[in-house]
Amino acid sequence: MDWQKEDLKYIWHPCSQMKDYETLPPIVIERGKGINLYDINGKCYKDVISSWWCNLLGHCNPKINAAIKKQVDTLEHVIFANFSHKTAITLCQELVKVVPKGLCKFNFADNGSAAIEMSLKMSFQYHYQTGNPQKKRFMALSDAYHGETLGALAVGGVDLYSELYKPLLLDVIRIDGPDCFRCPYGKCRDNCNCECFKKAEEAFEKYADETAAIIVEPLLQGSAGMKVYPPLYLKKLRELCDKYNVHLIADEIATGYGRTGKMFAFDHAGVSPDIMCLSKGLTGGYMPMAIAVTTQKIYDAFYDDYLKGKAFMHSHTYSGNPLACSAAIEVLKILKDENIIEKANKKAVYFNKIIREKFLPLENVGEVRSIGLINAIELVKNRETKEPLDYTKRTGYQIYKKALERGVILRPLGDVIYFNPPLIIEEDDMDYVTDVALDCTREILYN
Ligand SMILES: *Cc1c(COP(=O)(O)O)cnc(C)c1O
Repeated sequence: MDWQKEDLKYIWHPCSQMKDYETLPPIVIERGKGINLYDINGKCYKDVISSWWCNLLGHCNPKINAAIKKQVDTLEHVIFANFSHKTAITLCQELVKVVPKGLCKFNFADNGSAAIEMSLKMSFQYHYQTGNPQKKRFMALSDAYHGETLGALAVGGVDLYSELYKPLLLDVIRIDGPDCFRCPYGKCRDNCNCECFKKAEEAFEKYADETAAIIVEPLLQGSAGMKVYPPLYLKKLRELCDKYNVHLIADEIATGYGRTGKMFAFDHAGVSPDIMCLSKGLTGGYMPMAIAVTTQKIYDAFYDDYLKGKAFMHSHTYSGNPLACSAAIEVLKILKDENIIEKANKKAVYFNKIIREKFLPLENVGEVRSIGLINAIELVKNRETKEPLDYTKRTGYQIYKKALERGVILRPLGDVIYFNPPLIIEEDDMDYVTDVALDCTREILYN
């Protein structure tokens, strides 16, 4: 059977111009092992983007496989209103030990965007029920990405995803966030005082009274091109939110689970958000699940006699799915038992070193930035002025296609090439994928 042809007959792929598939048909994957994926012809692909940033501990990890197999023979799913199960309870017992201090109530969803929607509704309703019904707007940073359902799109600031839908979206207060590579204050992210934070202060002065929450991707704006900013920004934001009674929502969907070198990006700042959204790494990239974790204080504002109408009327059919919970428990166990994050941090030093050595000599590399094992290479037209490449040339996409031929999955964000590999990647694979990425970049830019 021609599987590619059959695919295109039926499937409308996510986030794709389907016409592009005329020249790059879908790669039909048969199996995975570690960071490797194998297609139906047996060709191997190095998955250094963790299959959309969710695969944490390798494909077909034997321990996670075993946990799910055991669970599937015990209980596959049960309604989560009025009913519960040991797997979800155990997961929360374990999670509460590792999430930022003060977060202790877990509300389940089945994808990242849904957790974002949930956190926005939760924040609005909290203020509504505590005497501040005027707090019905949200603040978000420029270049933010929080998912693609309507509420999540509204707080997002990447035009590629939201521009077209603006007529449908909530009126969000947009704050010029940190832009460290092209810092308008001429500072450098390693030793600045977050001069850009004054934009947040100005917005709070003007709009805090009508604002329920500000939502941020802590330290790393992934979809914007792996933009990295300093923890000080989060610390300052925590103080500002406290001063104005505005919730701080942490979208840790991409940054959680060791991606930034600590369990959560907020851990770098030593402060806690009021609501934290988790997904992606949560189940190791196995099962669709997300959680909005919040504080006792927020939970208590919903706790009253039924007829007061204060309950949080939000549900998803697959909330607390036992198979997903079993994977999530196993992920936490592996992270701990195998010291995964500590080991990843050691490997991250090597990874960053070879990427800088290989890419910085190219005159079109504007910056190599990194956090944890995530490394991004921003290609520019001119290194001095930081002028971007002509986006109509689709340079990143050309590099992606070249690298695929050689069995490496890069999937650049525009003209930002990045690596966000499973935390278990080894040095020989780091050598290989960076060599291929460098060759392909040179070939596309200079041939
Ligand atoms: C992926 C992602 C989301 C959305 O999660 P989905 O499961 O794709 O809906 C939200 N925020 C961030 C930071 C993400 O990376």
